[in-house]
Amino acid sequence: MKTRITELLGIRHPVIEGGMQWVGRAGLAAAVSEAGGLGIITALTHDSPDGLVREIEEVRRLTQKPFGVNLTLLPTLKPVSYDAYVDVILSEGVAIVETAGRSPEPFMSAFLASGIKVIHKCTSVRHAIKAEKLGCAAVSVDGFECAGHPGEDDIPALVLLPLAADALSIPIIASGGFGDGRGLAAALSLGADGINMGTRFLATKEAPVHERIKRVLVEADERQTALILRSLHNTVRIFKNRVAEEVMALETKEGTTIEDIAPLVSGTRGALVYETGDVDAGVWTAGMVVGLIRDVPTAAELVSRVVLEAESIVKKRLGSMVAE
Ligand code: NAD
Repeated sequence: MKTRITELLGIRHPVIEGGMQWVGRAGLAAAVSEAGGLGIITALTHDSPDGLVREIEEVRRLTQKPFGVNLTLLPTLKPVSYDAYVDVILSEGVAIVETAGRSPEPFMSAFLASGIKVIHKCTSVRHAIKAEKLGCAAVSVDGFECAGHPGEDDIPALVLLPLAADALSIPIIASGGFGDGRGLAAALSLGADGINMGTRFLATKEAPVHERIKRVLVEADERQTALILRSLHNTVRIFKNRVAEEVMALETKEGTTIEDIAPLVSGTRGALVYETGDVDAGVWTAGMVVGLIRDVPTAAELVSRVVLEAESIVKKRLGSMVAE
């Protein structure tokens, strides 16, 4: 498929790996890029900028193809020196950056001066318009179905994508709820130029995630996600496990603060889920698309299946419905 996104990023298929904390490592990102999509490593998976340098070196050892670095700008329990991560992105000559969580404005002049293509992930049309004005090359528009932070407006992709397509000139990546070729065909129909898949790539052979968690993803249905941190206006969609239920119970109590919740939601605790395979070790993000995950293919099998299915839908299923 040739879309504005494949042209912009120099990739073969309009499929981009979601920026996944702890999971966006070199092995998976390189596998997605080798498969013709765009692999994304996540900066904050590393507690020091040096870790990001090593991860970038590792992706480059594994693939010559384009890849991106995700930089998420959201509240964190420990202060993060974003400038130091931006310095690594600049000094390592990274070509594609995905920002998320907050406006990338403070870093845009440095990114643009280095010729970096910035994809800003946003959950509203107003933020997408701002990103276009700031000089972002593309936006990733994240519907309410998504894993991680859906924002506070709760607008699903079916409405958000056509609204964004009407309002923007830059290419759009559809994000949130995408896991198969039907999703890709739908996203293109709604005005997007490609899709972003996070949770779906969690259940691939190359994902650095315990096999037990991949099985949980295969067995889960679409109702097994929960929204937490809504009381703090920092809503996160996660897998509905015992810790999620504890957090939700705490949030119903008047006056609950981030300090009360922090021991439950801390990302370092959540990382233990992927490491040990204990589904209740902490909180871990998953989108509603879990209901559509039925196997654990390689990243290459997944990308090619998604694209072939979308092509067949466009050419055969939809094509055959148009009356002469
Ligand atoms: P963390 O351990 O610092 O924080 C855990 C959660 O609490 C995060 O969702 C964070 O946004 C939230 N939080 C922290 N301080 C807060 C405050 N003062 N008010 C409201 N909410 C607060 O974060 P982490 O899990 O190590 O993640 C690092 C970064 O990656 C964060 O920016 C986080 O939001 C983001 N993240 C992204 C994904 C993804 O899939 N893209 C998943 C998890 C986290």
